[in-house]
Amino acid sequence: MSVLLTGGLGYIGSHTAVELLTSNEDVVIIDNLSNSDLSVKEKIKKIVEPVRKLDENSFKVYVGDVRDYKFLDQVFSENKITSVIHFAGLKAVGESVAKPLDYYDNNLISTINLLEVMRAHGVKNFVFSSSATVYGKAKSMPIYEDFETGATNPYGRTKLFIEEMLKDIYNSDKSFNFIILRYFNPIGAHDSGLIGENPNGIPNNLMPYISRVATGKLECLSIFGNDYNTKDGTGVRDYIHVVDLAKGHVCAVKKLKTNCGLKIYNLGTGIGYSVLDIVNAYNQVCGNKVKFKFVDRRPGDIDICYANADKAYKELNWKAERNLLDMCKTSYNFEKHNK
Ligand code: NAD
Ligand code: UDP
Repeated sequence: MSVLLTGGLGYIGSHTAVELLTSNEDVVIIDNLSNSDLSVKEKIKKIVEPVRKLDENSFKVYVGDVRDYKFLDQVFSENKITSVIHFAGLKAVGESVAKPLDYYDNNLISTINLLEVMRAHGVKNFVFSSSATVYGKAKSMPIYEDFETGATNPYGRTKLFIEEMLKDIYNSDKSFNFIILRYFNPIGAHDSGLIGENPNGIPNNLMPYISRVATGKLECLSIFGNDYNTKDGTGVRDYIHVVDLAKGHVCAVKKLKTNCGLKIYNLGTGIGYSVLDIVNAYNQVCGNKVKFKFVDRRPGDIDICYANADKAYKELNWKAERNLLDMCKTSYNFEKHNK
């Protein structure tokens, strides 16, 4: 009886694999290595093995693409999959504007395939990696799960389409259990420094960019706008430690076992930090190495975005526990290890 993680060698998937394995769940991963590499498998093992001995029955990795139906069918035939967490997908907003077809192809086709294979094998439990981006520009803060949704770019639209698809499937077949997790801004890394976020090329996101400035790999952070209507003029987001986020998935898998139907949860801390808050916290950790300059706003960015995460606390018994300094410390530690 295993939990299948698509995209399980990626940033959030690898941390979730660690948390599931240390909670005594068996894990099967499928990843096409488009944004990860096979060394992550050994790193997951290295983290988990002091707590639990692993073998091919408890932890298995398949290299392959979720868009390949035959391959998926084989994985489901070879393993007793009870739940699926679907992380695999492309995730860069800017790239999705430039290459929309890649996003519709990868994100939508993989999900349709996966759901078809699940139906064929009678697997009915599914967790989906959605995003706060589905709220677009929310009318007020904090954001609750029942707020109106609306995407502003192809990446966000793939998340919204999939959410709608899951609702339609659930309406047609109530034996499915679907948990949609809307992540806010995951940052940080595992305490071991072995796994973390390691984007190819110049990072688009704030935290990996800061880490590379702090370790001398990049010169200077450009802060996109200091004229937003926020406390210091820089953009505000709800940053959540990736280990907290991963633990949210363990709670979601538990919830699926109660035949919960279709549920939607925000996974955030409920706290909004500005870009300057993040830079200041990071500077405390690394000894003032984060040089920055203010530049124009980035097109498409919103001023402020943070969650109300009470529903996840009430229904999943989950809440984020790690603070901003933990996020910065682990991020810096990972970046230093990751030459
Ligand atoms: P990631 O890129 O680190 O991980 C995704 C993994 O999926 C990678 O290992 C990649 O190789 C794999 N993959 C991609 N397409 C695949 C395919 N067709 N078949 C098999 N494997 C495939 O990304 P992440 O940050 O871990 O994000 C995981 C999920 O969470 C994504 O769906 C993303 O959209 C969503 N999400 C991420 C964030 C964030 O800020 N990181 C925020 C909200 C939502
Ligand atoms: N940001 C920035 N410089 C960067 C990257 C991001 O100032 O190099 C800001 C961005 O404008 C936003 C915040 O940092 O206010 C978080 O951006 P990120 O891309 O990490 O996540 P988003 O919330 O946009 O998905």
